[in-house]
Amino acid sequence: MSTKKQRALMQLGHYTDSLRCPICQQVLQLTETGVTCANRHTVDVARQGYLHLAGTVAKSRYTKELFTARQTLLQETAFFEPLIEEISEWIAKEAKDSPRIVDMGCGEGTHLAGIVNRLSGSQGIGIDLSKEGIQLATNHSAEVVWLVADLAKSPLQEASVDVVLNILSPANHQEFRRILKPGGLVVKVIPNAAYLHELRSFFYAGTDKETFENEEAQNRFTNELEFVGSSSVSYQKELDDKQWRDLIGMTPLTWNADEKKVEEFLAQNVSSITIDLTILIGRAKG
Ligand SMILES: [Zn+2]
Repeated sequence: MSTKKQRALMQLGHYTDSLRCPICQQVLQLTETGVTCANRHTVDVARQGYLHLAGTVAKSRYTKELFTARQTLLQETAFFEPLIEEISEWIAKEAKDSPRIVDMGCGEGTHLAGIVNRLSGSQGIGIDLSKEGIQLATNHSAEVVWLVADLAKSPLQEASVDVVLNILSPANHQEFRRILKPGGLVVKVIPNAAYLHELRSFFYAGTDKETFENEEAQNRFTNELEFVGSSSVSYQKELDDKQWRDLIGMTPLTWNADEKKVEEFLAQNVSSITIDLTILIGRAKG
C-alpha cells in the first residue's frame, strides 16, 4: 500500500462523521481500504491518497498539465499568500476553535492546505469534481482529506462543518446552508475590478471582460447570510516569462488566446500582475 494511501486512510477516520454516501446518503464507515455505507456502497482510497465519491466525471478543460503549472506557479511566487493569510485571520477570529473547514472547489488544494496549516487544530475537507486537481492536491502536507465529488450534491452530512470556503468560484448557497453547523461561516472570495488587470487590459481591451463586476455576487451573499465583515486584499506579484505563460494557460479568461497574441503580450515585458480581491465573511442564519 502506498504511503499516501496509508496516510489518507488514517486521516479519514477523523472525518467519517462528516461524510455520507454519494449514492444513498447513508453515513459512511471506515473499512480497511476505504469507506462503506449500510447499503454496501463501497469506495477504496485511491493510490494517490484521495476518495472518489462522484459518479462518472466529465473531462474538464483543466488537464493535469494545467493543474501542475498552476501548483508550481502558486508555490514559486507565493501567489495567493496574502489572501491565504487574511482568510486564516478571519477564521481564527470568527469561527470556533479547531474548525473543520471545507473548500468547495479546491482545485489543486493550495488555498485549503495553506489555511489549515496556519490554524492549529483545524481540519480540512477539499472537494472538487476534477480528479486531476484532487490528485495533485494530495501532494500538500496538511490535515486534509481530499474528495473527488459533486459540489451541488456533496457527500457531506447536514450540519457537519464549521467553515465553507468559496474562493473565486460560483456559490451554491443552498448546499452551503445544508452542510454548515448552526452559526458556521462562509468565506467567499470575489475578484475586484483590477484583478489580473494586466492580462485583461491586453487580451480584453474594450470588452466587458476588461474589468470585473462583482456587485451581484456581493448582494446575493448579504441576502443569503448574516453579514459579518469583509476585507480587500490587493497586491502585485512579479513574474518571469515562464510564469506569465503558466498564468495565461491556467486563467479561464486567457486560456484560449492564440500563441501569436501571447507572444505579443510577452514582448511588452510587463513585470508584475495585480491581484485584487474582496473577502466576504458571512454566518449561517440560525
Ligand atoms: Zn450508500
